[in-house]
Amino acid sequence: MRFDVLTLFPGIFESYLRQSLLEDAIQAGLVQVHAWNIRDWTLDKHQRVDDRPFGGGPGMVLMAQPVVDCVAAVRAKAEPPGKLVMLTPAGERLTQRTVEKLAREPRLLLLCGRYEGFDDRIRQSLDPWEVSVGDFVCNGGEVPAMVVIDSVIRLIPGVLGDQQSAADESHSEEGRLEYPQYTRPRVFQGLEVPEILLGGNHQAVAKWRREQSDLRTRARHAQGEQGAQNEQNKTPKTEST
Ligand code: SAM
Repeated sequence: MRFDVLTLFPGIFESYLRQSLLEDAIQAGLVQVHAWNIRDWTLDKHQRVDDRPFGGGPGMVLMAQPVVDCVAAVRAKAEPPGKLVMLTPAGERLTQRTVEKLAREPRLLLLCGRYEGFDDRIRQSLDPWEVSVGDFVCNGGEVPAMVVIDSVIRLIPGVLGDQQSAADESHSEEGRLEYPQYTRPRVFQGLEVPEILLGGNHQAVAKWRREQSDLRTRARHAQGEQGAQNEQNKTPKTEST
């Protein structure tokens, strides 16, 4: 699978690409990652890629020309042209289902914004798949792009040592969280590994894990519902006239 990252800060990816699992996947020829500097496509004589927003307001907006030209040029560098993903807090929230869909694509172009974000005509003209990594705002799309790469490559056959790891993981089944894991030592600060994991009875272990996974999943959902309820209670009621 091939990723092309379109960014104003390609250097951010240098050490990331050398981390263990991703580096191994690249070495094994399972994954390719190319980072491109959007600034290389600006036609502005001062190499600018951003400008003040029409209508006023703070910050700078990424101009359409360098981004649209960069996307066209990068698409033309390989086959297939690839699916364009725009990283934006306004996008579809990244979930394991979205990750599964993204992992079916042979090539993804990950478009990273900066400053106040993109001139909206980039979206109108390129019709990208808009993806958000969560309901918060990062300084740029680079960390969100790494989140996409990191989560997607886990689903590419051969990337994980044991493909079962991805199948068993949290969220691999709708909303389900993984059971608690333990390793040596058997006792740490007086906390013991559950006896059932030490007995070698695989069926009993599988049953225990399923139960623990259910408990965790229910507890998390209850937490989520409680959080939503608290938020609702905080929202000031509008006075009726
Ligand atoms: N002014 C924009 C807004 O309010 O939606 C935020 C711009 S943000 C500071 C700059 C860039 O970071 C965005 O264009 C986007 O590429 C990236 N970014 C920030 N938060 C993100 C998120 N939650 N998911 C994906 N990308 C994000």
